[in-house]
Amino acid sequence: MAHTPTIFGGNYLDEVEIRELLIDHVGHRCCWGSRPARTWKIHAVEDCNVYVGTLETFLEERELVSETEPYHGGNIDGKDKGPELGLWDLDLRSQFPALYVPYKETRVKILRSETVEKCSGCAGRGDIACPTCNADQEPGFYKQNQMSQCPACYGQGLIAHRDGSDTICTNCDGKGKIPCATCGSRGLLQCKTCHGSGSLSTLKIAIIKWKTLSTRKVSVTSVAALVPDEIFHRAKGVQLCNTQASQCSPAFFADSFFLNQFSFDVIQDRPFIPPTAWVICERHMISVVPVTRVTMSRHRQFFSFYIVGLSREVYLKDYYPARFCWGLCPCLEWLKT
Ligand SMILES: [Zn+2]
Ligand SMILES: [Zn+2]
Ligand SMILES: [Zn+2]
Repeated sequence: MAHTPTIFGGNYLDEVEIRELLIDHVGHRCCWGSRPARTWKIHAVEDCNVYVGTLETFLEERELVSETEPYHGGNIDGKDKGPELGLWDLDLRSQFPALYVPYKETRVKILRSETVEKCSGCAGRGDIACPTCNADQEPGFYKQNQMSQCPACYGQGLIAHRDGSDTICTNCDGKGKIPCATCGSRGLLQCKTCHGSGSLSTLKIAIIKWKTLSTRKVSVTSVAALVPDEIFHRAKGVQLCNTQASQCSPAFFADSFFLNQFSFDVIQDRPFIPPTAWVICERHMISVVPVTRVTMSRHRQFFSFYIVGLSREVYLKDYYPARFCWGLCPCLEWLKT
């Protein structure tokens, strides 16, 4: 059978090459036979090139958070040393990443933003009254050395045995009373919020995130509609445009209304930019990925596969006539060795 060679990225893809590509692809599946690839008739070869458009938006986001920790004395980097720097006044040139990195995050202390306050958990005392033995005390008042009855000897200090003898209670050492298990009868507990220091220092931290948001679009003809978009994004194609700007506008192709519209659609799909961020730059690309659909037949049986991209990746999704993987195929034999 003769068919017209198809133009494939500037190369002709003839019948021999088509078969070789398929045989190679099938050869990587241990339980697929190569006979259909070798012997079936090439019934149809159709070009169905695919356009892939991307818009990458590289942005910086800044956000302020407060960090509070116990204050144990020492210098405070506060307002008295000068005005506090604003979030967007920070100079981050030394930490700036390469353009279009997927994600980078950094944290920077805001100079002169430190403040010290009385701990609210303990009203600045550093201690709180024990909730077990000083439960109903007014703030700031507590009683020391409060004991409770020993539960082992019921406050007797002695344990009575069946034979009528007594022994000293080991739980309370014969005292009949035990100290508070929570505070050791000190009456006070250290405040957990300030670790007993009574003060908290609060510092402003800037969190800076650089990230690239990607918009991708694939324009597929119905012939290639069964191939997942991922295959085209991964494939190598021929670049038709590659522009960079602080904000990309649609590319202009003098001879293609379709491409102008496609580019416009990609740009229209620009992701939402949160108000805490600003766009540093954008990159817009359109490529054409060569795609060929090959249909092979024998008698009245057919199957199709796709040859995608400049690197000629074979995509064969479902049906191939010679699949022998029923659980007894050589791939399981191979596991046993
Ligand atoms: Zn207590
Ligand atoms: Zn006891
Ligand atoms: Zn406290």
